[in-house]
Amino acid sequence: MPIATVNPATGERLRTFDALGAADVERCVAAADAAFQTYRSTSYAERSRLLNRAADLLDEDTPDIARTMTTEMGKPVKAARAEAAKCAKTMRWYAKHAEALLADESPDAADIEDAGASRAYVRYRPLGPVLAVMPWNFPLWQVVRFAAPALMAGNTALLKHASNVPQTALYLEDLFRRAGYPQGCFQTLLIGSDAVESLLRDRRVAAATLTGSEPAGRSVASIAADEMKKTVLELGGSDPYLVLPSADIERAAATAVTARVQNAGQSCIAAKRFIVHTDVYEEFRDRFVTGMRGLTIGDPMEESTDVGPLSSEQGRSDLEELVEDALSQGATALCGGQRPKDLERGWYYEPTVIADVTDAMRIHREETFGPVATLYRVESLDEAVTLANDTSFGLSSNVWTRSDEDVRRCVSDLQAGGVFFNGMTASHPALPFGGVKRSGYGRELAGHGIKEFCNATTIWHG
Ligand code: NDP
Repeated sequence: MPIATVNPATGERLRTFDALGAADVERCVAAADAAFQTYRSTSYAERSRLLNRAADLLDEDTPDIARTMTTEMGKPVKAARAEAAKCAKTMRWYAKHAEALLADESPDAADIEDAGASRAYVRYRPLGPVLAVMPWNFPLWQVVRFAAPALMAGNTALLKHASNVPQTALYLEDLFRRAGYPQGCFQTLLIGSDAVESLLRDRRVAAATLTGSEPAGRSVASIAADEMKKTVLELGGSDPYLVLPSADIERAAATAVTARVQNAGQSCIAAKRFIVHTDVYEEFRDRFVTGMRGLTIGDPMEESTDVGPLSSEQGRSDLEELVEDALSQGATALCGGQRPKDLERGWYYEPTVIADVTDAMRIHREETFGPVATLYRVESLDEAVTLANDTSFGLSSNVWTRSDEDVRRCVSDLQAGGVFFNGMTASHPALPFGGVKRSGYGRELAGHGIKEFCNATTIWHG
């Protein structure tokens, strides 16, 4: 895959970049390792100062970097600005809280009386240079979500970003440099995925994190396992969205539209499977389909656009194949199901709702990475929970209900890294984020995320 900026709204290739050669990559790894040897001993106060400075610069840069993101991967520019704001907020959150999150932990003296120690505690020490393999869908956020805690913990970072967002990738390196980070603390490597293995096998690279597809995750995790290196994986999702009889249907349907089409549906935590109780099925269906039909599709640079193009031609054809497979086997498109007729250039796809889905269809099992919802009718809570869990993924889940009994059951039984009631899944710096099953392992954000790339070291004094 060439490293290039190709505008998804027009299909036009705007800039191509040469991949770094082996000698350049070696120079970057050496710099990351050298930087770690001193940066690891900086104070939390100094790390906070640097990260707050990066947040301030990002705020200033937001209009420009938002347009760059939109040009490279097609998200509506208003969403790109919101993404930048969330990154700055998360940087400030970690700048403020990292020291407390990583404070030494001492067990109760009574609990270690028999350990023979006069004093014992846990110290969270950084691991070293961490390789981040990141996707294009939230090209700033996915990186900052990793980098803010990793840098606050004292690690250094090597970014291999997706090949279609090189300018955003280079911006990130420049941002951290301008914030005053020592050279080597955060570097962008413009490389293809074929160059990842040798990085993972380099003894100076301590650990890796990947957000992306299952095949990419499997490859990175298996090579890292071969090298006995820690990994965090955040892969796909096919989050269920349960609408139960006591739900506020008007709000559930309005939120369902946003939850499905955010980022043109290219979000791992977008709600994808809408599982609706028969008592409220018709009302929800009608409101949901009306909402999906009412969206404004078009140029992502326009402030009024709700849904831009998909990020790549391949992404759109993958989505089309899933829809065509379902329709050919008897599913019904309640709206959409095709390319918009008035947008011939660019990789647009209409917001789509597919009903009458059976488990023989690919769309029932696979992730729909685009603005396509599947709609299911169920007769009971039991059936809803069973269907929600009938997936290889387990990232998050959404439930609309006013019943305490429904809440208790879903908290206990939904197989996912999150259960969001009466709202849509969204990440927040103070709450851990990650999945189970084939959605990956490990957690990002909150205290859980910052500890993933730390050596929890037992310090024992006799
Ligand atoms: P990929 O998983 O291919 O890309 C994500 C990142 O991984 C990119 O930096 C990519 O580099 C890199 N990569 C790909 N293959 C390997 C490999 N074998 N070894 C090391 N690194 C690798 O995602 P795609 O963009 O191809 O999207 C395909 C599907 O992945 C989507 O339809 C969706 O289902 C899922 N996905 C999930 C995301 C999420 O947020 N969880 C985000 C993006 C995709 P390069 O760009 O150079 O190939």
